[in-house]
Order: sequence, then structure tokens, then C-alpha cells
Amino acid sequence: MTTQGAVRIRGVAAAPGTAHGPWVPFVRSSPARPGGRTVEPDAEVARVISAAEAVAVASERLADDVARAGHADEAKIFMAHAMIARDPELLDAAAIRIRTEHADGIGAIGAAASAVADQLRALRDELLAARASDVIDIGDRIARELAGLPAAGIRLIEPAIVVAEDLPPSVTATLRRDRLLGIALEASSPTAHAAILARAYGIPAVVGATGLLAALGAAGHGSALAIDGESGEVLVAPAKADVERYEARAEVTRRARDRDLDDAALPAVTKDGTPVVLLANIGSPDEVSGAVALGARGVGLFRTEFLFLERASPPSEDEQADAYGRVIAAFAPHPVTIRLLDVGGDKPIPYLPLKAEDNPFLGVRALRLADRRPDIFVTQLRACYRAAVAGRVKIMAPMVADAGDAATLRRLADRAREELIAEGRPIGPADIGVMLEIPSAILTADTYVRDLGFVSIGTNDLLQYTLAADRGNPALERYRDSLHPALLQLIRLAVESARRAGTELSVCGEMAGDPVAALVLVGLGVRVLSMAPSNLANVRRAIRAAVRDDLEGAAMSSLGDASAADVRLRLRTRTQL
Ligand code: PEP
Ligand code: MG
Repeated sequence: MTTQGAVRIRGVAAAPGTAHGPWVPFVRSSPARPGGRTVEPDAEVARVISAAEAVAVASERLADDVARAGHADEAKIFMAHAMIARDPELLDAAAIRIRTEHADGIGAIGAAASAVADQLRALRDELLAARASDVIDIGDRIARELAGLPAAGIRLIEPAIVVAEDLPPSVTATLRRDRLLGIALEASSPTAHAAILARAYGIPAVVGATGLLAALGAAGHGSALAIDGESGEVLVAPAKADVERYEARAEVTRRARDRDLDDAALPAVTKDGTPVVLLANIGSPDEVSGAVALGARGVGLFRTEFLFLERASPPSEDEQADAYGRVIAAFAPHPVTIRLLDVGGDKPIPYLPLKAEDNPFLGVRALRLADRRPDIFVTQLRACYRAAVAGRVKIMAPMVADAGDAATLRRLADRAREELIAEGRPIGPADIGVMLEIPSAILTADTYVRDLGFVSIGTNDLLQYTLAADRGNPALERYRDSLHPALLQLIRLAVESARRAGTELSVCGEMAGDPVAALVLVGLGVRVLSMAPSNLANVRRAIRAAVRDDLEGAAMSSLGDASAADVRLRLRTRTQL
């Protein structure tokens, strides 16, 4: 309940935690003078190029600072900014405006950045649309350099929540963290860099809070603000009761976090003694320490796309071997499952020109790129084998449809290994396995699973391909319940095939991190679950409170149910879940 007087706005949760206190606005003051003219186009183009170089150098310096503060992955954001500042497409577009329209450099770079940002937004890809604000940020910084103005920023005199329409990443990274209580943005998305940085720094953040700036304007300076980075709630001028509620929430979160860490060493075993192995899903080496602290016994899914996106050329073998090696060493002697690149289709990358497709999720994605660009996979596989000297490695291919795809993986892996042996380079052993995320891969599993070291069910894609429901389309929410009996039947088939073959099976889709669904998986015979580190404690607790016989009875009976709702009802009545 909100006490009278406060204005409640529903935003989008972007970084966990709650905050309350005074707020400080960030207003982008653009130096652009609309209609500014130049009479010396060549000199003006040269001025733009040297201002852009100054911004690129400053971005590289910021990347160094962020990396030195222990955020190596976030530092890449600013290395990418340096690349944008030097991007010939951006600078040529500005030069054309200067030469043909006699626009001045400030106006020309602003217009060129807006045009590039519009193109990114038009691609209808959330991730790329979020990158539009980076391009605008760089355009703005070049314009400020041309105008002789200092870089935009906020001086936080006292602890406060920063509010803005959108927050450029360069401003987010330079805020004084000891005084930054939280971030609340009218626009932006959880995949924008401001949100990524907030999560990395542990700063609560809410984005997409429509109406926030108007409500703050009405409340006036000196009013307070409260934000909840988990629910997305924003309260303008919260009453005393609201603040008390937020303080109580913060205390509960703190205690829960302490309890999760205390429980991390407990085994995940049912009351009647069935052990379940809990592993972590990670998307970058930065997540390793959190996953280890929360008791992950290895990594069941290491998504490697972070190394490949937002850059002009693919990562080198050395860079990859170093990134994988750091994760492997941190988890040794537990295994780390490195998933080969899962891009293409809906996730274009600049150095991998692919034709636009009508149905990208059904198109040339992941391992299906192997016959066009085997080099990308062989390089990645070579990096995996080299990194395997540091600990235990499993290599997993996504988007495998049948035995033919599994054979492609084997061929590429053999080539990588043989090359390295011929070169005399030190390598370690690696298990080879595939994701089961396409129904055909499960229906034909008996034909190839015996030749693999392991398989892992990707329930996110398996659900979308089984129910023909795009995983990103909010209109199809009703088809996205992982307890759908069709999905459960496929999972059971996979468990049986893996048992017949004597091959280890795990589940690494989101389903494994939902305590109720995780228990259904255990009931279906799954004994290895991989999930976001933040879910480990809740799933471990649920397993320790369950009895295997009950879970098996409920899960097996639910295979004949008509809907996910029926499955839930059965679980509630038979196991009190
Ligand atoms: C899956 O599809 O379930 C999965 C784990 O992979 P991703 O979500 O990365 O496609
Ligand atoms: Mg998948």
C-alpha cells in the first residue's frame, strides 16, 4: 500500500536492491546550435576528426579506470565507445553533411549520430536498440569537445538517486559510487549499458519509468524518491510509511543474502537421500565469484556471446583462451561447460555478414553457421582445448537438430585438437556434448547420444520450438509455461535416451532455476541442474525439503495432463508445492 501523497510509477526492474532519499537530475545539455554554418568545410571536417580522436582517447582512459576498479567486462563498453568515435561510417556521414550542406561540425556530428542511432532502433532488436544510446552519447561528447565544453557529468555533493530521461554510459561510469544511492530512468531498458553498469556496481536501478520526470517536476526540488530495483516500483515523495516499508525490505534482502551464503556449503539432497548436482549458468567471467560463493559445483552453461558482440572483429584465440581459462581455474576441480557461439539470425554481429531472414529463430543460427564460417568455431574450440590445461572442461554446441549436427561438432573439435597437437601446443582433455533444445534432437537422441560425453536440455528454446511460440513475443505469454506437459514429455524422453546411452544429462534452461519446476525435473529423473547463481539457494532449499518418491509420482502422472495449469494443480495436491 502506498500512503497518501506519494505518486507511484511502475517502471521496469533493472538492477536489484532498494533505495530512498533525495534525487539529482541529469539533463543532457547539447551544445548543438541548429543551423550552424561553416565556410571552410575541409578545416571543419579536420576539426571533427580530431575532436572524435580526443573522445576516443578519453574513452580508452575511462576503460582503463573501470578495468582497474575490477570491472573488466564493463571496461569493454568504453573500448567499444572508442571504436564508435573512430567509426568511419559515423565520421563520413558527418563529413558529407559538412561538405554538401555546409553544416558546422557540432550540428553535423549530432545529426550523423542520430541517424546511426535511428538505424539501430529500426532493427527491432532490444540489444541493438539499447546500443543507440551509446552512439548518441559519443555524438554528444564529440560535439562538446568541438564546443570546448567539458564532458557531461553530475557532481554528487551528497548521497542521492540520479534521475534522467536516459543516462549515457560515460556519465554512469563516472558517478561517485560512494554517493550514488540508485538510478531511476524515464526511458532506457534493462539491456542498456546504464543498467548493465548499475548491476555490475550493485546500484539499485529502475528504467522505463514513464511519467517520472513530470511527477518529480510537480513534487519540486527537495522532494524525496524511493525505488525498488526488483519490482520496478518508483515512489515520488514517499510517505514515512513507504520509507519504513523500503527499509524493512532492504533489511530482509540483506538477511536473505547472508542466509544464502551461509547455506552454500549444504548438499542438494532430498530427504530420502537422492543427491542433485547444482551448477551455475554464467555469461561472463565477472559472475564467477558470486556463483562460487553461492555454492555452485561447477558451470553447466557458460554463454560465450559476451566475447563476440559489440566489436568490429572476432576475438582472437588468445583472448578467448584467457577468458575461458580464468573461469576454469576458478572452478577447478569442478567442470566448466563452455557453450560454443550462439549467434546469427536475430543477433547480427558486424564482422559476420548474414542475410536478413524472415524467421531468424528458425534460420542460420549458432552451429548452423559452421559450414560458412568453420574458422570461427575452430578458433573457439582451439581456445577451449588450450584453456583446458587449467581444469575440467566440457564443450557444448547449441542448436543441434540431429546426429548430422552432432557429427559436425565432432569434426570441428577433432580438427581443432589435431591442429594444436601438430603445432606442439599444450592442451587439456575436454568432454564433447550438445544442447537438447530442438524437439528433433530429442526424438532422434538414441542415434547419437551414446557417442557424446554429455547432453544438456535448453528448456528456453525447447519450449519455443515445441509450442511454436517466439520466446521474445509478449503476446504469447500463455505458451511460455515450462510445466507444459508437451515439454515434460520431451524431457522424459531425453532422460530415457540418456540413461540407455549411459550419457550424463543436465537441464540448463531457466526452468531449472524455478524451485517448483526444478522439483518436477528431479521427479522426471534429472540429477544435474544448472541455473542463474541467484537461484541456487532457493532450488537447494526446495530439494532438501522434498521426498523423491513424491516428486516421481507427481511428475510421472503429469505427463498425461492437458495443460500446465493441470500440472500445477496436481503438484499442489500431491506434494504441497
Ligand atoms: C536454452 O535455450 O534453454 C538455453 C539455455 O540457451 P539460451 O537461453 O542461451 O538460448
Ligand atoms: Mg538456447
